[in-house]
Amino acid sequence: MGFPGDFAPNCLKIGMDVGPNQLCRRFRGKLGASKVISEDIKLDYDDVLIIPGRSVVASRKIVNLETSVEFRGRIAHFNGIPIMAANMDGVGTFEMADRLKSRKLFTCLTKFHSAGDLIEFFSDDAARSDYCAPTIGISDDDWKHFKTVADHLGDKLRYACLDVANGYTERFVDCVDRFRRTFPSIALIAGNVVTPEQTVRLIEAGTDVVKVGIGGGSVCETRIKTGVGYPQFSVIMECVHAARRMGARIVADGGCSSPGDVAKALAAGADFVMLGGMFAGHPEGGGSIIDRYFRSEEVDKDGNPLIEKRQFVEFYGMSSKTANEKHFGGLQNYRSSEGRTVLLPLKPSLDETINDLLGGLRSTCSYVGARNLSELPKKAGFVRCSNTHNRVFEDLV
Ligand code: 5GP
Repeated sequence: MGFPGDFAPNCLKIGMDVGPNQLCRRFRGKLGASKVISEDIKLDYDDVLIIPGRSVVASRKIVNLETSVEFRGRIAHFNGIPIMAANMDGVGTFEMADRLKSRKLFTCLTKFHSAGDLIEFFSDDAARSDYCAPTIGISDDDWKHFKTVADHLGDKLRYACLDVANGYTERFVDCVDRFRRTFPSIALIAGNVVTPEQTVRLIEAGTDVVKVGIGGGSVCETRIKTGVGYPQFSVIMECVHAARRMGARIVADGGCSSPGDVAKALAAGADFVMLGGMFAGHPEGGGSIIDRYFRSEEVDKDGNPLIEKRQFVEFYGMSSKTANEKHFGGLQNYRSSEGRTVLLPLKPSLDETINDLLGGLRSTCSYVGARNLSELPKKAGFVRCSNTHNRVFEDLV
């Protein structure tokens, strides 16, 4: 057949049965594009369980969930529980930030707070600087807005979150680089990406904490609309090594639906875990509470069905039609909605949610014999499985 040899390195790889190089070269020669299909098995939280091991931890009460994290010479020094609220509507609010701060958890605020409100928020309470980050987008207006805040606050601003759906564009990397040159002392959380190569690029450009995860979020539709994504557990395992080698960190963003998933993310090596859906639905998220009335199975003394009131809060992806209508005057005709809108039952107590989450994490640590979160990845092993838990009565709760 005779195909140019320089096609070989980029040849098509499809499973073990592709076989001869000629097939690769022919495909490559005809289409003129390289195609790589990874043959490795990639895993999600639902594909693994943590294996318990001999434990010196007599009680979960003695497990310390606070970690101490430094960021390559920046002023910021995190002392707290490495869980972050996502910069989403209904989650990244001032009220949520204050409540989470009181439990030593971190919040990435949404990018829709005015400069004046951010300045007031960070000026009013110095401790907020240690547990909250404003979020920036990559438009010129976003930059001007952030610069006003940062110039005004000076050293009071220790963190910032630079957030885009697609952390692979040159424009985004340039933005990270510009941020780093302009604000050398602020710890930068930036993403999102899912591969070690782009994790390294973001770190080289100046990111301290790389946000990893695409398409796994609770109200995300990117995988459906674009076919793009990467199983989240494997993202963590693969990106954390790249980050570690460079003295940087990762935050596992999206896809946790239970305290067990958060434990798996931390046990896989994530330095932080970011949560949207698990923190959504609380009054602190600020969305309006919606009453809905349901006909119950029971009847009153006259035989009329009893009507039951239930309360809900709207929650939506930041790339959803709802978010675009709210913040950008509608969905532009060149883009599709990549997020969904759902009604969540109102969760009255954020403290209860946090206790459930932290209680689960402490218990994970005691199962594997980790006295704190830095021991967790060293002590935890995983088993692949196809059934993580028994669902028989799940609908009855
Ligand atoms: P969750 O904890 O709810 O599973 O995931 C939260 C993460 O989902 C966010 O931090 C963000 O990275 C991602 N996300 C939020 N809104 C959207 C959206 O509309 N589309 C997509 N693709 N991802 C979203």
